[in-house]
Amino acid sequence: MKTTRKLKLTIIGDEETRKEQYKIIREEQYQQYKALNLCMTLLNTHNILNSYNTGAENKLNAQIDSIDKKIEQAKKELEKKGLKESKVSKLKETIEFLENDREKLKDEYLNSSKFRSDIDEKMKEMYIKDMYTVVQNQVNFRARDMMSLVTQRARKDFKNSLKNGMAKGERSLTNYKRDFPLMTRGERWLKFEYDKDSDDILINWIHGIKFKVLLGYKKNENSIELRHTLHKVINKEYKICDSSMQFDRNNNLILNLTLDIPDKQNNNYIEKRTLGVDLGIKYPAYVCLNDDTYIRSHIGESLELLKQREQFKDRRKRLQQQLKNVKGGKGRNKKLSALNKLSDNERNFARTYNHMISKRIVEFAKKHRCEFINLEKLTKDGFDNNILSNWSYYELQNMIEYKAKREGIEVRYIDPAYTSQKCSRCGYIDKENRQTQEKFKCLKCEFEINADHNAAINIARALD
Ligand SMILES: [Zn+2]
Repeated sequence: MKTTRKLKLTIIGDEETRKEQYKIIREEQYQQYKALNLCMTLLNTHNILNSYNTGAENKLNAQIDSIDKKIEQAKKELEKKGLKESKVSKLKETIEFLENDREKLKDEYLNSSKFRSDIDEKMKEMYIKDMYTVVQNQVNFRARDMMSLVTQRARKDFKNSLKNGMAKGERSLTNYKRDFPLMTRGERWLKFEYDKDSDDILINWIHGIKFKVLLGYKKNENSIELRHTLHKVINKEYKICDSSMQFDRNNNLILNLTLDIPDKQNNNYIEKRTLGVDLGIKYPAYVCLNDDTYIRSHIGESLELLKQREQFKDRRKRLQQQLKNVKGGKGRNKKLSALNKLSDNERNFARTYNHMISKRIVEFAKKHRCEFINLEKLTKDGFDNNILSNWSYYELQNMIEYKAKREGIEVRYIDPAYTSQKCSRCGYIDKENRQTQEKFKCLKCEFEINADHNAAINIARALD
């Protein structure tokens, strides 16, 4: 399974070396940006010329068809009895004239299609096979491999934009931005190792550049998991795939490290045992087994989440107010960067929170030897009943999915309709069954249960 981790990097070396090497990375990124856009333009030119000529041929074909019809009509006319001599000779003349025209158009058609296949061949030669040469004349890469990374990428993106409706005008050509992440080879270019004297993780890249991974001092969920992952990279348990690097808005160098993580075999599960996950208001998640509904748990507390969110909101409000009061210049920039930093912190907080919740859900499933985890499918309208935003829920789903997969547990998505209204004992569905946010009481069989627990049971059993 492929997964990507973001690592903050710093170059190791004296001031002079570092300055020079950062410059190398930026320059290579600039060359890549030019090369990618060039490739796109070349691919598109080829494509347009191709479809232009096809268009011309279609037009000729239509003209020939219409002349065919006219000739047929004239011939039918001719077969009629009792026509005047002058009419007959006029019709014959018309037919001859039209047939002449048709021959000319047919010639034109043949020429055009031959021209197209010729040009097609030439274009292929020039633009596809020798895209290397064309682009190489315009850009100047330090690393030779960059050319193949660039052409591969451009071809893939071009194919995708064609597939996604570019030919129909529903989408335009991919336009690479100046800050498009610099692509880097995986295993061959990124050599991870531990520093001999400390716990630091180092990367030997090309051009003699050596990075240190900045893992941060906070011992939070993120950095512990990251350290664990990188340990497996160094031990060659995880394979490094082609990755990329970029500078974030605070000018930090970020490596988007793509890894291929082998799926663990889960031979230990109890067949068909499923964990249902309900996302709620009081608790971010409530989990329950399908075959033993007494085994259940809530994951996390919403209160802490709400409190933290309020704090972010207050701080944002204050900063925005202050921003209104400063006129410009340094003060304004300072406030703006404080706002950006706040957004980063908020994102990081939400991400860390999702990591924690997803980890605990998967741990629960593993502990109770589940074969499956059932999640509610996120609908277009989203949920109104949960504490997380839809985007955050989507992120949480992804995290649960890849963490489960690593343990050999399969995640299934179920239809979220009625999970909170249905009685988990008798199956009776009624909006009124859920009496309050917390209390569920079936109007038919009078079964009483915690509402989140009831929903989690329904989710766990949805595919039984
Ligand atoms: Zn009931």
